[in-house]
Amino acid sequence: MSVIAFAKNWNGKFKNSTYELVSYTKELANKLYTNLIVLSIGEVSYDELKTLGKYGADRVIALNDAQFNVLTSRAYAKVISQLADKESASVIVMSDNNSGKAIAPRVSVQMKAGMVAAVQELPIDLDPFVVKKRVFSGKAFGHVQIDSEKKVLTIAKNCFGLVENQVDVSIEEFTPEVDASLFKIQVIEEEEQKDKIILSDADLVVAAGRGMRSPENWGPVEELAEVLGAATACSRPVSDEGWRGHEEHVGQTGKVIAPKLYIAAGISGAIQHVAGISRSKCIVAINTDPEAPIFGVADYGIVGDVMDVLPRLTEAFKNSKS
Ligand code: FAD
Repeated sequence: MSVIAFAKNWNGKFKNSTYELVSYTKELANKLYTNLIVLSIGEVSYDELKTLGKYGADRVIALNDAQFNVLTSRAYAKVISQLADKESASVIVMSDNNSGKAIAPRVSVQMKAGMVAAVQELPIDLDPFVVKKRVFSGKAFGHVQIDSEKKVLTIAKNCFGLVENQVDVSIEEFTPEVDASLFKIQVIEEEEQKDKIILSDADLVVAAGRGMRSPENWGPVEELAEVLGAATACSRPVSDEGWRGHEEHVGQTGKVIAPKLYIAAGISGAIQHVAGISRSKCIVAINTDPEAPIFGVADYGIVGDVMDVLPRLTEAFKNSKS
């Protein structure tokens, strides 16, 4: 018996979300008293594969084949279920990102495995196997029991964090039998968005809420974000009003993020907002109301008007840089 984590790469590189997946699955494998196998599909350098050992991968099995460099969910699912059969794996875990969402259901069907998507934490119970996930658009948590012998999980981003657990990792090759017909659908071109920092991966985030009063007032937020090299984010009413795009909305019903620094400008700190930022390492709040709930979760608080404080912060960061 073993546990397999599928480690997606982006142009041959892993991201923090991959290491979070490995950290999570290592802990799960420990609970099940078994080994963790991490499967990498597509060309990835030996040194990059080795980095998975830092987070507890006992064995890395690599399919270093250029044919697999572009994600083809049917072929990937076939590879994962073949390896799962070969290694008699009982649990397969993936990140709940676009690839995990496309592949996990296929693997679940091929392996006749029960599946739960966007799991929030380690299983609450192993026998029976019960996991926790958000339900009703994030308004509540559900406990879901998987009764099948084999199980497929996807884990929600930023739900677990990175846990270093250096092991002496072995790197092995794998050559599955994959029919050419599975490559019928191909992504022929990918365009990378280069001008914007991706919120869910950002280390630094400048977020703003209704305290900004109008979408025309977002200049100071963007200027501070630019000086810091930070992503921008917002509270839900701001995106509901159409002041900012929904991709910036963080919280219970938006993105869950875990940056090193989160600056909350004119955000009250409602519980639904805090649900998406509570794993931030350092929270700085700017609010005119000293009683605003955001100060209860902030590491540093500035009582003041955003239109006054934000430009001063930008100036101070510019000066410290130069
Ligand atoms: P407000 O609550 O209006 O707060 C504005 C703040 O700005 C106040 O604290 C005020 O003192 C301050 N302020 C005003 N003027 C200034 C100024 N000039 N300078 C500095 N500070 C100023 N919300 C989310 O954000 N994310 C979610 O995912 C989410 N999910 C939800 C799910 C459900 C089921 C429900 C019911 C609600 C959800 N909400 C969510 C909404 C949440 O309850 C709050 O209403 C929302 O977070 C408030 O947004 P806000 O802080 O921007 O606005």
